[in-house]
Amino acid sequence: MTAFQSYDVIIVGMGPAGASAAYELCQAGLSVLGLEKQSHPRYKVCGGGLSARIESILPPDFHSVIEDAVHRMIFSYGPKESYHVESEKPIAYMVMRSCFDQWLVDRALHAGAVVHEDEPATALTTLPDGIEVRTAKSRYHGRVVIGADGAMSLVAQQLFPHRRLRKIPALESEILSHSPEAHAYAKTALISLNAAKKGYGWIFPKKQGLSIGVGEFVRGMNQPRQSFQQFTRKEPTLAEQVIPSPLGHPIPVFNRSPGIMNGRWNNGLVQGRALLVGDAGHLVDPLLGEGIYYAVRSGQLAGTNIVQALQHSSPCFDNYEHAVINEFGREFQIASRLGRVVYGVPRSWHRWVGKTFPGPYQGVLQRYCGMLQGQETYQTLWDRMMTRMKKPFIRRS
Ligand SMILES: Cc1cc2nc3c(=O)[nH]c(=O)nc-3n(C[C@H](O)[C@H](O)[C@H](O)COP(=O)(O)OP(=O)(O)OC[C@H]3O[C@@H](n4cnc5c(N)ncnc54)[C@H](O)[C@@H]3O)c2cc1C
Repeated sequence: MTAFQSYDVIIVGMGPAGASAAYELCQAGLSVLGLEKQSHPRYKVCGGGLSARIESILPPDFHSVIEDAVHRMIFSYGPKESYHVESEKPIAYMVMRSCFDQWLVDRALHAGAVVHEDEPATALTTLPDGIEVRTAKSRYHGRVVIGADGAMSLVAQQLFPHRRLRKIPALESEILSHSPEAHAYAKTALISLNAAKKGYGWIFPKKQGLSIGVGEFVRGMNQPRQSFQQFTRKEPTLAEQVIPSPLGHPIPVFNRSPGIMNGRWNNGLVQGRALLVGDAGHLVDPLLGEGIYYAVRSGQLAGTNIVQALQHSSPCFDNYEHAVINEFGREFQIASRLGRVVYGVPRSWHRWVGKTFPGPYQGVLQRYCGMLQGQETYQTLWDRMMTRMKKPFIRRS
């Protein structure tokens, strides 16, 4: 073991959440050590879909790592039934996580972060003036520690031991293809609500081919491999493709229970001098499993709040949790409610609603895409849906 090295902030995990926090902290002049289990560029099981509103929180040069911009979303219930939303402005951007995450880490390095790759944190101990982080190579002291170590977070396990939160199973595969079928997906993303029993399947366009996957969003649905096989077999555009065996990874979606109680987020994102960001904090949209936007944004919020808190002699980091609740709290609660409708009722109900009320149904999908673009929020989408549903009753009374 080498000597104890001290930093203002130690970040465990250098994915989108950790790298974004590191950048923010270094910009403010704090010393930052990022510990990363793997070595960038590394493969990450992920669809790589970024909602276009990511533009409001990243500088324009992130476009250098974009694989494709999505201008058309297809929501399908099977090969014959689908609803299309098109937009002149991008609805989403597609990235390969190896390149996107590398770009974020490079940004943090340029800002002054020290990053140790291939050096996983193995143990954490709370001290009166900070937290000790151990690895197989050394031990470090941080005045503050950020847990940005993803869905299986060691920081959450060791420093937030009473959290018992839900993770949903998901699978993803990438196909390399220049076939006409794959080209049909250029600038187009497919969300198939027929692909999983209580979840969805996706096909996302990449420069070299397609990303394909499924996620099961309701407790007890633990057969994503079966869903994946059925989805790829039934989807006509994938019929002739060679699809490598998918890789699995859990998605730690926002939990409806305990949700947000007494000003705390799902049992807490702050514990003394430790903060959780991104997947480690279960900051994932429970409707479609979008997590990258929230990872970047929570990393930024943690960074700015730590900078402010460390200006005080006895720092308190609760403002980070309040900021997360303010920005994502109501949004995730509504997303969770919508998730119960989308995955809770039979698919035939969606088909029936779509056929009987095509205009309003298309309108909701359009507004959902508007939300991905940052023009709407879940709150405005929900309010409009409620007003629309009440209209016939108001007219009658
Ligand atoms: C199949 C699948 C598809 C998905 N598709 C999408 C999508 O299309 N769009 C979207 O927005 N989200 C998607 N997500 C969710 C998205 O991948 C995550 O929300 C996002 O990666 C969270 O970023 P993060 O930085 O919090 O964690 P991660 O990206 O998981 O990064 C955590 C980092 O911590 C490192 N680490 C772990 N343990 C340690 C340790 N002990 N010490 C040091 N380092 C450690 C890891 O190596 C990793 O680099 C998908 C997830 C899955 C599973």
